[in-house]
Amino acid sequence: MMINVNGSSFRLEAVPQHVVDAYGDCELSDGVGPGVIRVSEDIIGEALLDTLIHEYTHADMDFLSEPFVERHGKGLARFLMQLGLIDISKLNARALRLK
Ligand SMILES: [Zn+2]
Repeated sequence: MMINVNGSSFRLEAVPQHVVDAYGDCELSDGVGPGVIRVSEDIIGEALLDTLIHEYTHADMDFLSEPFVERHGKGLARFLMQLGLIDISKLNARALRLK
């Protein structure tokens, strides 16, 4: 599925775990096509939310260091879960393929 990251187009893909390091990665646009965010199709729940926030942050602010992006993803995912704003039944990476 295509997503908009603060005005830039990215293709969001759920891929087999062995394709990505950790749970996901982000490739910025080459100036011709869209960027690509890939997440492991095996992750669910808070780990998926954390990964989506993490890769979105890389896509939006590539100048940020990895430790900051890591902290931001984990912290914001936990915060949103604690507030009850996230429907955990929808946090399934395989479902991303359907859209
Ligand atoms: Zn990262």
